[in-house]
Amino acid sequence: SETKANNFVRTIIEEDLARNKYQGRVVTRFPPEPNGYLHIGHAKSICLNFGLAQEFNGQCHLRFDDTNPTKEDIEYVHSIQQDIKWLGFDWQPNLFHASQYFEQFYEKAVFLIKKGKAYVCSLNEEEIREYRGTVTEPGKPSPYRARSVEQNLDLFQRMRNGEFEDGTHVLRANIDMAAANMKMRDPLLYRIRHAHHYKTGDAWCIYPMYDFAHPLSDAFENITHSICTLEFENNRELYDWVVAECETEAVPRQYEFARLNLTNMIMSKRKLLRLVNEGLVEGWDDPRMPTIAGFRRRGYTPESIRNFCDMIGVAKANSTVDLGQLEFSVRDDLNFKVPRVLAVAKPLKVVIENYEEGKEENIEGSLYPHDVPLEGSRTIPFSREIYIDRDDFMLEPPKKFFRLAPGREVRLRHAYIIKCEHVVQDPETGQITELRCSYDPNTLGKTPTDRKVKGTIQWVSAAHAVPATLRFYDRLFTMERPDLAEGEFTQYLNPHSLDLAEGFVEPWAATREPGTRFQFERIGFFIRDTKDGRDVHPVFNRIVGLRDSWAK
Ligand code: ATP
Ligand code: MG
Ligand code: MG
Repeated sequence: SETKANNFVRTIIEEDLARNKYQGRVVTRFPPEPNGYLHIGHAKSICLNFGLAQEFNGQCHLRFDDTNPTKEDIEYVHSIQQDIKWLGFDWQPNLFHASQYFEQFYEKAVFLIKKGKAYVCSLNEEEIREYRGTVTEPGKPSPYRARSVEQNLDLFQRMRNGEFEDGTHVLRANIDMAAANMKMRDPLLYRIRHAHHYKTGDAWCIYPMYDFAHPLSDAFENITHSICTLEFENNRELYDWVVAECETEAVPRQYEFARLNLTNMIMSKRKLLRLVNEGLVEGWDDPRMPTIAGFRRRGYTPESIRNFCDMIGVAKANSTVDLGQLEFSVRDDLNFKVPRVLAVAKPLKVVIENYEEGKEENIEGSLYPHDVPLEGSRTIPFSREIYIDRDDFMLEPPKKFFRLAPGREVRLRHAYIIKCEHVVQDPETGQITELRCSYDPNTLGKTPTDRKVKGTIQWVSAAHAVPATLRFYDRLFTMERPDLAEGEFTQYLNPHSLDLAEGFVEPWAATREPGTRFQFERIGFFIRDTKDGRDVHPVFNRIVGLRDSWAK
């Protein structure tokens, strides 16, 4: 999109460039932890970091923040790369892993110990918490703060050597147990974790904490603007402390922006992982998931997600964006791109009694409306028996119903005007099983002059239509902010988030490859699913409805 919404980070970069702060360089990074699939919140961060680098002719690094061995996996590394590429960004040649700096982190830790700025603490977790104090009460120093540099060097080396159990010792920064900012009360720098790391294997049994590894990684990579989300605001003081005390050559700066929240969604990898593990969705790429993989499978375009991220801007205060805005963005994008075809979600058989039995016509139908600058058409078979949608017929129609009803006429899209002559009902249930109609042979591509027929409906030829499953999606959660709700967030899952319809599509649509997007006229935008129904019986996912049905 051309419109650039408010972005305070851009302003900061412009000012830095004006003052020649980093010799004109702009280097950002996107630092995902490979412990889950990326979600739309990450897309926001990707668009921001890669977008700013592009805009200022700089670089954006992709750095896997892989310092926690127990939750990370190569599957996530691969999915993250795939998702960033799909969004349209390229990190090459700047691919990094925090784990590649394990030796350098260790050296910096030793450097701090030698300066008297770090010590090995042997309090247990609970004691550490007690000693830390509260927001209103200062903490008190750990008794192990008094250890000599020699003792600390020896213990830290032995921690690395694997001589101690998990949790017996930690390395802490020696700062200020009375600091107003709790993060500065001798924060942990290293902990013991006898765990296999997906990349470094069993080479290490001590792992650095985020607050130590992150600023150092930024410094090692010459990052100029390290952009993170607001909850790290209090960590900035520690970030600056680590960079200053480790005396790194480069001095990166951290800036915080508001994380993206979407209504009726959750945006935490930990919670999304639970949905996957507990079988509450079909996987990370379930089209109802707020993951990039989910949106991709649902049929969202990369452009629509990028435009959405631009449109909502970069804020300093947390807020929740209406899911409707994202839907607006994809509808707006697809509107100018995809062919319009005919499909019927809830089939009702119609027999056109005055149409010759066995006769077939091939009707030419344009694929795009006049206001879309694309051209193309296909042929649509027409015959005596067709299906229309049940919702397009009413026995006793209200006043403004312009579709089919007993004795009334309607236009079949691209084809003739038909009139309902008889309604066939099941004698026992009253269920409507079939309509007997007539057609006006003079109405193909012609508007009758003697009467006005207002409605136009979609249809498919019964003998030619291809049976297909249409998946309709609704919000994953019934609550606007399930993350803030009381109790288990899973209790707010929408039981109707997926609705299946066994319908029909016109033959041309069924010959399109999985991954093709369409508008099924009057039903919505759809994509042929890339996983299910690839060979026979195609499956189509509704990407979004034609207008905002949630506006109320
Ligand atoms: P989650 O809490 O969902 O697990 P995270 O922040 O722990 O997210 P990371 O892998 O560390 O996940 O995130 C990589 C980057 O993406 C970070 O810089 C983080 O700030 C950013 N990010 C994560 N979630 C959001 C969000 N909802 N909005 C904007 N940026 C986000
Ligand atoms: Mg993180
Ligand atoms: Mg997290």
